[in-house]
Amino acid sequence: MVTRRQFIKLSSIAATLPLLSQVKLISPASAAAIEKVPVDDPSAIALKYVEVASSASRTDKMGVAGSDQICGNCLFYKDSATTAMGGCALFQNRLVAEEGWCMGWVPVA
Ligand code: SF4
Repeated sequence: MVTRRQFIKLSSIAATLPLLSQVKLISPASAAAIEKVPVDDPSAIALKYVEVASSASRTDKMGVAGSDQICGNCLFYKDSATTAMGGCALFQNRLVAEEGWCMGWVPVA
């Protein structure tokens, strides 16, 4: 026997099913990581983002030598696996160069 409470729960779930079929299942990273971060973007300037890490003055951070810090080994980097660019969470998942760097660099745990 279905209780009144169970009936209400089932009814609300059934009511949302048609809506779910309208939703496109796109991961946040693939949806947002489509635009390249311009180096003259205000947030890029503020974080001193560069597309070639060796052109930046990088200091040692969290036990990692500055010369070893690149976007590709940063906690905020999402590797695209198809290009030399990937999404950066610090830049709203816009694309940054895998060999790039910015002051927000944090080592992968
Ligand atoms: S936060 Fe990390 S991945 Fe993003 S631009 Fe800076 S160094 Fe690169």
